[in-house]
Amino acid sequence: ALGTLPKPVATACPYCGVGCGVLMTADASGAITASGDPDHPANRGRLCVKGSALGETIGLEGRLLHPMIRSRSGTLERVSWDSALSATAEGLSRIARTHGPDAAAFYLSGQLLTEDYYAANKLMKGFVGTANVDTNSRLCMASSVAGHRRGFGSDTVPGTYEDLDEADLLVLVGSNAAWCHPILWQRMLATKQARGARIVVIDPRKTATSADADLMLAIRPGMDAALFSGLLVHLAETGALDRAYIDAHTTGLDQALARAREIAPTLAATAITCGLPEADVATLFAWFTANPRVVTLYSQGVNQSAQGTDKVSAILNCHLATGRIGRVGMGPFSLTGQPNAMGGREVGGLANMLAAHMGFSGTEIDRVGRFWGAPRMAEREGLKAIQMFDAVEAGSIKALWVMATNPAVSLPRADAVRRAMAGLDHFVVSENMLSNDTVNSGAHILLPAAAWGEKDGTVTNSERRISRQRPFLPLPGETRPDWWIIAEVAKRMGYGEAFDWPDVASIFREHAALSSFENRGSRDFDIGGFSHLSNSDYEVLAPVQWPVRTPTDLGDKRFFAEGGFFTPDARARFIAIDQPDLKAEPDPAFPYLLNTGRMRDHWHTMTRTGKAPTLGRHRVEPLLEIHPDDAAVEGLAAGDLAEVTSTHGKATLRVAVEPGQSRGSLFAPIHWNGETASHGRIGALVQPFTDPWSGQPEMKATPVSLTRV
Ligand code: SF4
Repeated sequence: ALGTLPKPVATACPYCGVGCGVLMTADASGAITASGDPDHPANRGRLCVKGSALGETIGLEGRLLHPMIRSRSGTLERVSWDSALSATAEGLSRIARTHGPDAAAFYLSGQLLTEDYYAANKLMKGFVGTANVDTNSRLCMASSVAGHRRGFGSDTVPGTYEDLDEADLLVLVGSNAAWCHPILWQRMLATKQARGARIVVIDPRKTATSADADLMLAIRPGMDAALFSGLLVHLAETGALDRAYIDAHTTGLDQALARAREIAPTLAATAITCGLPEADVATLFAWFTANPRVVTLYSQGVNQSAQGTDKVSAILNCHLATGRIGRVGMGPFSLTGQPNAMGGREVGGLANMLAAHMGFSGTEIDRVGRFWGAPRMAEREGLKAIQMFDAVEAGSIKALWVMATNPAVSLPRADAVRRAMAGLDHFVVSENMLSNDTVNSGAHILLPAAAWGEKDGTVTNSERRISRQRPFLPLPGETRPDWWIIAEVAKRMGYGEAFDWPDVASIFREHAALSSFENRGSRDFDIGGFSHLSNSDYEVLAPVQWPVRTPTDLGDKRFFAEGGFFTPDARARFIAIDQPDLKAEPDPAFPYLLNTGRMRDHWHTMTRTGKAPTLGRHRVEPLLEIHPDDAAVEGLAAGDLAEVTSTHGKATLRVAVEPGQSRGSLFAPIHWNGETASHGRIGALVQPFTDPWSGQPEMKATPVSLTRV
């Protein structure tokens, strides 16, 4: 029995970017269970298996419940909050004073609530004076952000989930939505049933999603942009371009089309480059041409790439060229991985964003500095995640505060990341769990943060919908909300006035006010209508899509149907992309390409889903999917153990022989962790190549070798 709730508490799921509404209810015994919120527009009462099992994940086993500091002998010892906060503040101030602000960094998380994220960004970018604030969202959707900004002049998702109900063609690129965005996938299947919509899946690997597709294109790894270049050429040559839209609202088509013709001059050439049957490519092109109501959804198979931004641009080019954007049932749609990747983007959680979707121009730095009353604004973009940990390794970053994420498992070259963090001068972790790979990498100060179910704030889902996450459990032990921890550190650094928030609603109001400050329609993100929201209205805030420009004008549901892009001339940009290729090809020493991704029933490094017996049954241990022919060549059978090795690390995994796997390509899940390679910590193998625009690492195609154990 965990407690009693007088009535169901409406909150939001802490897992994927669908952002489902959840009702948490206690039964007579006090046991708490989750059900779908019928009033939440994202899920209309449905939950997937992960959301349904939330009640199993809220126990206190393994929780960090008290502040701790590592003693000289290396043991973690319980201390008072005042000691831990003062030590955190003293270390940050000392490093910034001695080595300059850029010697300090925060590494944040898409699990943080918007208000937590806002507080962290304000402290570093306005008061410490560095933009070395990045987030695990860099691994998730940074390429979509960069693609949006390049094409639209802003990080705007133009459409809404309702478009999935109204489409005639749904094209999923690099997305296993059936497992990773299950409630949206059910919505797509309902559209298929209700209006006969066709579904196309473009993915090197056959998945649960492709099993229900009308057309599956098992594309050669890394060639998505070549396929969409071929599509752009096809649209131009079949008279399918929307000349009126192009002339009125865009610029750069000629250059983008010329480049597309170099990359994929004909349908036949496109098919060869992409490793696809010509007839299947022809079918996709014909369906796309014939169906104005087309939504192209893309996820990590596009984003997690050293050419991820180009892949996004190649997709946006096709939608801009046909004017299929911002209208009912059509548009490009980025499926975000995490529950609050979007909220993090909105407050400037990425090192190359300032706040409220602003960048680092002189005007924007000045504007945010005046709004915050900031003494020491960051003057330029900070280090993105991979660069940040390279700087930790090189010793130029000496103070690191990791919040709500586990980089020792999830980052590429995870073994090197773990070693690098052990050498930090000042290493702070705010966490739910007492022991994880990042804590065990030598963290000096542990700050016990409130977990989902205990904390209070807002998140934004993939369709720009802001939802409340509400607490339904008391704060256990001495845990505190992340925003409170950050504010208390800021006060001890001498910035009391700017961080003197009495409650979380005050932060939301400040965030809303900044979004409309000197905006005048020049920025997409505007929730100024919430600047004076009362605490009681914040408490009952219903899920709402931004923009919310005034309290009564809830703004536009969709963007860009009539142009109005956030570029200086209000026109979208077609992008001439680079020649698609992979950073590293297989060779005799490393003959396979390792693809990584999610399992249906687990989330990230399993600190929450690992507690739920229901979720443990689907896949019980780390595994390696391999094509039957490759398994035969390697002398492997289902159930064998195989050691997978890259130039960066190794892991031991259980072999699963899968005919849906492409030859030469392996797949392993990202979730498992632990001290040694035998725990299947797959991040240890992943190469650190990044996209030049987004800084997002290539996590889908690392050359590896394979031996039977
Ligand atoms: Fe949670 Fe995503 Fe499942 Fe919805 S689809 S219940 S947000 S994991």
